[in-house]
Amino acid sequence: MPSKPAAFIYSTELEEHSYPPEHPFNTARAKKTREIINSMGLLSAPDRIEVPPIIADRIVLKKFHTARYLHSLQNASKGQWDYEALNMGLGTSDCPVFKGVYEYAILAVGATITGAQLILDGKVDVAFNPSGGFHHAHPERAAGFCYINDVALACMVLAERKLKVLYLDIDVHHGDGVAYAFYDRPDVMTISLHQNPRTLFPGTGFENEIGKGKGLGYCVNIPLPIGTYDQAYMMAVNEAVIPLITAFKPDVFVFELGADALAGDPLANLRLTNNVYHEIIHKLLAFKKPILMTGGGGYNVANTVRAWALAWSTLCGADAELDANMLMGGIMMQTTEWHGGLRDRELPVTSQQRDSVMPALTETINSIKSAIFPIHGL
Ligand SMILES: [Zn+2]
Repeated sequence: MPSKPAAFIYSTELEEHSYPPEHPFNTARAKKTREIINSMGLLSAPDRIEVPPIIADRIVLKKFHTARYLHSLQNASKGQWDYEALNMGLGTSDCPVFKGVYEYAILAVGATITGAQLILDGKVDVAFNPSGGFHHAHPERAAGFCYINDVALACMVLAERKLKVLYLDIDVHHGDGVAYAFYDRPDVMTISLHQNPRTLFPGTGFENEIGKGKGLGYCVNIPLPIGTYDQAYMMAVNEAVIPLITAFKPDVFVFELGADALAGDPLANLRLTNNVYHEIIHKLLAFKKPILMTGGGGYNVANTVRAWALAWSTLCGADAELDANMLMGGIMMQTTEWHGGLRDRELPVTSQQRDSVMPALTETINSIKSAIFPIHGL
């Protein structure tokens, strides 16, 4: 992997839109990620291509969203906003209405659909849309900075072609919009690792939410205690996530890589370093199935863009070159005080942290093992 090129999906048109200045969601993160990877030569090799997004078609959007909601969003984008729109979450502090919100959404969402289409057409095995990952949007409700749910739509487009889709969400918030979209379906398994919903938006994603009907056992939630650190996180990945993926045997991955679980994120309380993302991507690549990766949350902008640059380098198989360059002292990033390249330095773990994380996390993993593993013959 990869024998086909890796696609970075981006266009400068995405830079024309931004949320209001006081809003934490920074649309410039995609541009900044592109600047880093381009400056490192990670876009120019023959096996890496940059692809502009195609605006998402209304027919595609209606696979998940209602016509009434899309109509309201489009009107709100033009300045026509009413109480019906507010009832659908449009115009709140989390999901403000701003000029061009619809145009931005259909382009950013279109970038994820473009990636799905490239995979379906057999043109690429891996694609990354750093402007995607709007996992909180519901069919008729904007929520959590999300208006149109690109990741749910991508899963639908892929599943329509009879592919078994594994949706993995490592954003610090529960991937609720996607989990509930496929709650009763066995063809799309959703796995979300996120901070304990008792302590963070959106307040859902407990380990006992495991799907229903034919989808029973195909919705996996791994709530994580405040302060969860790399080794604890990887224990959950190794003991719960990887065995379930192996049993499910997906044809394709949709991977939401919000970077708000990193230590220092201003909206959440986990303590990860980006080394975890590097490790998880390696584990996904080992399944030798196409991977559609998106951005998501991530409110410490410098840490987020560095994490996404590292994720792209890993996804497209350039991390080994980079590590070699690092040993030669060839790369010095200027984005934070840390001049060690794209990877974060390891964070020390205190015994107090370990004591507050491990018992709850072990209990969660055991609950998943007893409730979900048997459904998959594990
Ligand atoms: Zn998030």
